Amino acid sequence: MINVLMFGPPGSGKGTQSVTLAEKYNLLHLSTGDMLRAELAAGTELGKKMEAIMASGELVPDDVVIDMIAHKIDATTGKAGFVFDGFPRTVEQAEALQKMLEEREMKIDLMLVLEVNDTELMERMKKRALVSGRADDADEAVINNRIAVYSAKTEPVIDYGRKAGVSRSVDGVGSIDEIFDRLCRHIETVI
Ligand code: AMP
Repeated sequence: MINVLMFGPPGSGKGTQSVTLAEKYNLLHLSTGDMLRAELAAGTELGKKMEAIMASGELVPDDVVIDMIAHKIDATTGKAGFVFDGFPRTVEQAEALQKMLEEREMKIDLMLVLEVNDTELMERMKKRALVSGRADDADEAVINNRIAVYSAKTEPVIDYGRKAGVSRSVDGVGSIDEIFDRLCRHIETVI
Protein backbone atom coordinates (compact mmCIF):
# COMPACT_ATOMS: atom_id res chain seq x y z
CA MET A 1 0.00 0.00 0.00
CA ILE A 2 1.26 3.50 -0.71
CA ASN A 3 -0.06 6.60 0.95
CA VAL A 4 0.58 9.97 -0.61
CA LEU A 5 -0.28 13.32 0.93
CA MET A 6 -0.95 16.09 -1.62
CA PHE A 7 -0.04 19.41 -0.17
CA GLY A 8 -0.20 23.03 -1.22
CA PRO A 9 -2.19 26.22 -0.68
CA PRO A 10 -5.74 26.70 -1.98
CA GLY A 11 -5.54 26.93 -5.77
CA SER A 12 -2.24 25.07 -6.05
CA GLY A 13 -3.81 22.29 -8.11
CA LYS A 14 -3.93 19.52 -5.47
CA GLY A 15 -7.43 18.40 -6.39
CA THR A 16 -6.83 18.23 -10.15
CA GLN A 17 -3.55 16.36 -9.77
CA SER A 18 -4.88 14.01 -7.05
CA VAL A 19 -7.63 12.74 -9.34
CA THR A 20 -5.22 11.73 -12.13
CA LEU A 21 -2.59 10.35 -9.76
CA ALA A 22 -5.25 8.20 -8.11
CA GLU A 23 -6.31 6.84 -11.51
CA LYS A 24 -2.78 6.12 -12.66
CA TYR A 25 -1.65 4.29 -9.52
CA ASN A 26 -4.99 2.70 -8.51
CA LEU A 27 -5.20 4.76 -5.33
CA LEU A 28 -8.35 6.02 -3.63
CA HIS A 29 -8.62 9.80 -3.79
CA LEU A 30 -9.70 11.09 -0.39
CA SER A 31 -10.61 14.78 -0.34
CA THR A 32 -12.04 15.99 2.96
CA GLY A 33 -13.27 19.16 1.19
CA ASP A 34 -15.27 17.02 -1.29
CA MET A 35 -16.62 14.86 1.56
CA LEU A 36 -17.73 17.94 3.50
CA ARG A 37 -19.35 19.49 0.41
CA ALA A 38 -21.22 16.21 -0.13
CA GLU A 39 -22.57 16.48 3.45
CA LEU A 40 -23.69 20.04 2.73
CA ALA A 41 -25.34 19.06 -0.54
CA ALA A 42 -27.14 16.15 1.12
CA GLY A 43 -28.38 18.47 3.87
CA THR A 44 -27.15 16.22 6.70
CA GLU A 45 -26.94 17.43 10.31
CA LEU A 46 -23.16 17.42 10.02
CA GLY A 47 -23.32 19.43 6.80
CA LYS A 48 -25.59 22.03 8.43
CA LYS A 49 -23.20 22.36 11.37
CA MET A 50 -20.13 22.79 9.16
CA GLU A 51 -21.62 25.15 6.57
CA ALA A 52 -20.80 28.48 8.27
CA ILE A 53 -17.25 27.41 9.12
CA MET A 54 -16.58 26.37 5.54
CA ALA A 55 -18.13 29.54 4.12
CA SER A 56 -15.73 31.64 6.24
CA GLY A 57 -12.65 29.72 5.13
CA GLU A 58 -11.85 28.47 8.65
CA LEU A 59 -11.10 24.82 9.38
CA VAL A 60 -13.78 22.45 10.66
CA PRO A 61 -12.86 20.65 13.93
CA ASP A 62 -10.11 18.03 13.67
CA ASP A 63 -12.25 15.17 14.99
CA VAL A 64 -14.85 15.68 12.21
CA VAL A 65 -12.35 15.11 9.39
CA ILE A 66 -10.35 12.45 11.26
CA ASP A 67 -13.54 10.36 11.71
CA MET A 68 -14.47 10.78 8.05
CA ILE A 69 -11.05 9.61 6.89
CA ALA A 70 -11.00 6.62 9.26
CA HIS A 71 -14.39 5.45 7.97
CA LYS A 72 -13.29 5.72 4.35
CA ILE A 73 -10.04 3.86 4.96
CA ASP A 74 -11.87 1.03 6.69
CA ALA A 75 -14.49 0.78 3.95
CA THR A 76 -11.94 0.53 1.12
CA THR A 77 -10.88 -2.64 -0.66
CA GLY A 78 -9.07 -3.36 -3.90
CA LYS A 79 -6.92 -0.22 -3.93
CA ALA A 80 -3.13 0.07 -3.87
CA GLY A 81 -3.28 2.90 -1.34
CA PHE A 82 -4.60 6.43 -0.85
CA VAL A 83 -4.04 9.98 -2.07
CA PHE A 84 -4.97 12.37 0.71
CA ASP A 85 -6.06 15.75 -0.66
CA GLY A 86 -6.69 18.62 1.75
CA PHE A 87 -5.99 16.38 4.76
CA PRO A 88 -4.15 16.60 7.13
CA ARG A 89 -4.50 20.36 7.54
CA THR A 90 -3.19 20.64 11.11
CA VAL A 91 -0.36 18.95 12.98
CA GLU A 92 -3.01 17.24 15.17
CA GLN A 93 -4.62 15.75 12.04
CA ALA A 94 -1.20 14.61 10.80
CA GLU A 95 -0.50 12.86 14.11
CA ALA A 96 -3.93 11.23 14.06
CA LEU A 97 -3.39 10.06 10.47
CA GLN A 98 0.00 8.59 11.26
CA LYS A 99 -1.45 6.70 14.24
CA MET A 100 -4.45 5.53 12.20
CA LEU A 101 -2.19 4.20 9.44
CA GLU A 102 0.21 2.52 11.87
CA GLU A 103 -2.70 0.74 13.54
CA ARG A 104 -3.56 -0.64 10.10
CA GLU A 105 0.06 -1.54 9.27
CA MET A 106 0.52 1.33 6.83
CA LYS A 107 2.49 4.58 6.86
CA ILE A 108 2.75 7.95 5.14
CA ASP A 109 5.08 7.21 2.23
CA LEU A 110 5.26 10.58 0.55
CA MET A 111 4.16 14.15 1.02
CA LEU A 112 4.16 16.15 -2.22
CA VAL A 113 4.18 19.89 -1.64
CA LEU A 114 3.07 21.98 -4.63
CA GLU A 115 4.87 25.33 -4.66
CA VAL A 116 2.93 28.15 -6.34
CA ASN A 117 3.55 31.88 -5.83
CA ASP A 118 0.79 34.10 -4.36
CA THR A 119 0.12 36.12 -7.54
CA GLU A 120 -0.43 32.94 -9.57
CA LEU A 121 -2.63 31.51 -6.79
CA MET A 122 -4.94 34.53 -6.77
CA GLU A 123 -5.23 34.37 -10.58
CA ARG A 124 -6.15 30.68 -10.48
CA MET A 125 -8.65 31.15 -7.65
CA LYS A 126 -10.40 33.95 -9.56
CA LYS A 127 -10.67 31.72 -12.64
CA ARG A 128 -11.89 28.79 -10.56
CA ALA A 129 -14.55 30.98 -8.93
CA LEU A 130 -16.19 31.41 -12.33
CA VAL A 131 -16.75 27.67 -12.72
CA SER A 132 -16.64 25.92 -9.33
CA GLY A 133 -19.90 27.24 -7.90
CA ARG A 134 -18.22 27.19 -4.49
CA ALA A 135 -19.30 29.94 -2.10
CA ASP A 136 -15.81 30.00 -0.58
CA ASP A 137 -14.25 30.68 -4.01
CA ALA A 138 -16.50 33.63 -4.81
CA ASP A 139 -15.39 36.09 -2.13
CA GLU A 140 -11.92 37.58 -2.12
CA ALA A 141 -11.91 38.08 1.68
CA VAL A 142 -12.70 34.37 2.16
CA ILE A 143 -9.95 33.36 -0.27
CA ASN A 144 -7.48 35.54 1.63
CA ASN A 145 -8.59 33.97 4.89
CA ARG A 146 -8.09 30.47 3.46
CA ILE A 147 -4.56 31.40 2.44
CA ALA A 148 -3.91 32.86 5.93
CA VAL A 149 -5.31 29.72 7.59
CA TYR A 150 -3.06 27.63 5.33
CA SER A 151 0.04 29.59 6.45
CA ALA A 152 -0.85 29.51 10.14
CA LYS A 153 -2.22 26.02 10.59
CA THR A 154 -1.35 23.87 7.60
CA GLU A 155 2.21 24.89 6.71
CA PRO A 156 3.51 23.50 10.02
CA VAL A 157 2.43 20.07 8.74
CA ILE A 158 5.16 20.40 6.07
CA ASP A 159 7.76 20.52 8.86
CA TYR A 160 6.17 17.42 10.31
CA GLY A 161 6.64 15.68 6.95
CA ARG A 162 10.17 17.01 6.61
CA LYS A 163 11.13 15.60 9.99
CA ALA A 164 9.61 12.27 8.99
CA GLY A 165 11.74 12.41 5.81
CA VAL A 166 8.74 12.10 3.47
CA SER A 167 8.22 15.62 2.17
CA ARG A 168 9.24 16.62 -1.38
CA SER A 169 8.68 20.05 -2.83
CA VAL A 170 7.39 20.19 -6.38
CA ASP A 171 7.20 23.18 -8.71
CA GLY A 172 3.46 23.72 -9.14
CA VAL A 173 3.74 26.23 -12.00
CA GLY A 174 3.55 24.95 -15.56
CA SER A 175 1.07 22.95 -17.62
CA ILE A 176 -1.10 20.36 -15.85
CA ASP A 177 0.78 17.61 -17.72
CA GLU A 178 4.19 18.96 -16.78
CA ILE A 179 3.27 19.15 -13.12
CA PHE A 180 1.74 15.67 -13.29
CA ASP A 181 5.03 14.27 -14.66
CA ARG A 182 6.98 15.93 -11.85
CA LEU A 183 4.67 14.36 -9.27
CA CYS A 184 4.86 10.94 -10.92
CA ARG A 185 8.64 10.99 -10.78
CA HIS A 186 8.46 11.31 -7.01
CA ILE A 187 5.82 8.61 -6.67
CA GLU A 188 7.93 6.21 -8.73
CA THR A 189 10.63 6.45 -6.05
CA VAL A 190 8.36 4.95 -3.38
CA ILE A 191 6.57 2.19 -5.30
P1 AMP B 1 -10.99 22.27 0.29
O1 AMP B 1 -11.93 21.79 -0.75
O2 AMP B 1 -9.93 21.26 0.63
O3 AMP B 1 -10.40 23.62 -0.03
O4 AMP B 1 -11.84 22.47 1.63
C1 AMP B 1 -12.92 23.38 1.70
C2 AMP B 1 -13.21 23.73 3.16
O5 AMP B 1 -13.57 22.53 3.88
C3 AMP B 1 -12.02 24.28 3.94
O6 AMP B 1 -11.87 25.68 3.76
C4 AMP B 1 -12.40 23.91 5.36
O7 AMP B 1 -13.41 24.75 5.88
C5 AMP B 1 -13.01 22.52 5.19
N1 AMP B 1 -11.98 21.45 5.26
C6 AMP B 1 -11.59 20.61 4.26
N2 AMP B 1 -10.66 19.75 4.67
C7 AMP B 1 -10.41 20.06 5.97
C8 AMP B 1 -9.52 19.54 6.96
N3 AMP B 1 -8.67 18.53 6.69
N4 AMP B 1 -9.57 20.09 8.20
C9 AMP B 1 -10.42 21.09 8.49
N5 AMP B 1 -11.26 21.65 7.62
C10 AMP B 1 -11.28 21.14 6.35
